[in-house]
Amino acid sequence: MRLGVHCSVGNGLKNTIKEAVSLGCETIQIFSRSPRAWGRKEFDLEEVKEFKKSLKENNIFPLVVHMLYLPNLASADKKLYKKSVDVLIDELKRCKILGAKYLVVHPGRYSTGDFETGIRNIIKAVNFAFSRVKNEIIILLENLAGGKTDIGWRFEELHRIIENVKDKKRIGVCIDTAHLFAAGYDISKKGFDNTLKEFDRVIGLEYLKFLHLNDSISERGLKVDRHTHIGKGNIGIEGFRAVLNHPKIKNLPGILETPRIRFNLIKDRKNLIILRRLTR
Ligand SMILES: [Zn+2]
Ligand SMILES: [Zn+2]
Repeated sequence: MRLGVHCSVGNGLKNTIKEAVSLGCETIQIFSRSPRAWGRKEFDLEEVKEFKKSLKENNIFPLVVHMLYLPNLASADKKLYKKSVDVLIDELKRCKILGAKYLVVHPGRYSTGDFETGIRNIIKAVNFAFSRVKNEIIILLENLAGGKTDIGWRFEELHRIIENVKDKKRIGVCIDTAHLFAAGYDISKKGFDNTLKEFDRVIGLEYLKFLHLNDSISERGLKVDRHTHIGKGNIGIEGFRAVLNHPKIKNLPGILETPRIRFNLIKDRKNLIILRRLTR
């Protein structure tokens, strides 16, 4: 498994590379902009050129972009929905500029609306964005923890979205282990194989492209999205051993999104060491 970390872009892409290299990342995930603001700056194309060159030189691939947190593609609020779809379109374009392979997207929450309208809105958003941006960037729907009005925490819901996306070559799934566990799926040594079999039966393993490797503070089935360091949560070391070594997914890339205090990389380093040890 190619392993990496969600790296920060807050101090420029040059620093992102520094961070990735110092951690020994083989793949990275980044935000293409601030995840908590609607506004954004245009890229400095010289900086992007250097960034792409450095990724190549350091053999870091794939590059994955996580969409910012504000958009909600399931929203029943027309204004928010339109803004969200605009961001999705913009992010597809920015991924292309950055040379990213995947754009990880949270399907959405139906909040004040209802499930049916919410899931239809997500499907409409993805199809519309693909009709507007003709490139090869693949949208990966991330499984959510299942809190409140989350859509896409059960395999059936992810399947329903994928089934209705016209361009199947541009859609896939990113599994977050913490969310999967919180949603109630089994990630134990004994049970993980069954979970994957269910994924295969409902969605098809060919759609699974990327992993977020996070341990979970939430107990199994509690539907609370709280990440923690590998081995420190309720998934535990044996759970990750099962995930990392499963023959059907052990060649997928995976990244850490475990808590980080400011720019301190010590924990990331430790988590990576643990994961690498488990693959041996
Ligand atoms: Zn996410
Ligand atoms: Zn999460």
